[in-house]
Amino acid sequence: MGSRSQRALRRAAAARQVRLTPTLEETTDRMAAGLALYLPPGKTLELRLTNNHYSMISVRRKSDGYRLRLHQMFVGAEPRVVRALARYVVHNDRRASTLLGEFIEEHQHIIRQQTRRPRNLTLRTAGRYHDLEAIFGRLSVAHFGGALEARITWGPDAARGKRRRSIKMGSFAVEDRIIRIHPVLDQECVPDYFVAWIVFHEMLHGKHEVLRENGRRRFHTPAFLAEERQFPDYQRACAWEKQNLDRLLRS
Ligand SMILES: [Zn+2]
Repeated sequence: MGSRSQRALRRAAAARQVRLTPTLEETTDRMAAGLALYLPPGKTLELRLTNNHYSMISVRRKSDGYRLRLHQMFVGAEPRVVRALARYVVHNDRRASTLLGEFIEEHQHIIRQQTRRPRNLTLRTAGRYHDLEAIFGRLSVAHFGGALEARITWGPDAARGKRRRSIKMGSFAVEDRIIRIHPVLDQECVPDYFVAWIVFHEMLHGKHEVLRENGRRRFHTPAFLAEERQFPDYQRACAWEKQNLDRLLRS
């Protein structure tokens, strides 16, 4: 098992919990609506949430409004921070700028951890059918406050051309915090919600502590499993896995 948790094939369990999860678009719209309250009449705001490592806020002021690029760390920020953002956007207000600087400072760990990356690793996120970066980004905003420190890539296919007896669909390397997703999932017949479900599981490993019990490491703690069941497509994904496992093993 080493330093990796392995998500092999598991049985479906537990009841579904329905929860509405916002998409990145919805999160962006909500944030833009919050900011729009403070705009002068007749001005519009075009907002884009980013994961940029170096620029946390960038504003372009035009005659009819503002174009704002904002780091995802601001998602869910308290009202006084949102107000300060608006004051900064509209008036380039110095006090607002100081407050925002403090906010960024407090949330620095998110950026620092993102920039601490080994050089010799090539991440491959764009698949033929599924874009891991997009899925990761969406889940990150919806379930992890945009703050999960991890990277993601399609993994190697060790058993290519051989008969598979099992598939490790995803893994999370604890030390370098890299999620690898099995390339067998990059097929047209694999639904997006299923890939997202595997990614979500591995992302939870980036959030939950590993328990030590009698000298053994326990990755799937009760708290982990409880949160896993919060995934909106939990039931559907489990059912799909059950029905399509043989097909995946043969592909
Ligand atoms: Zn796991």
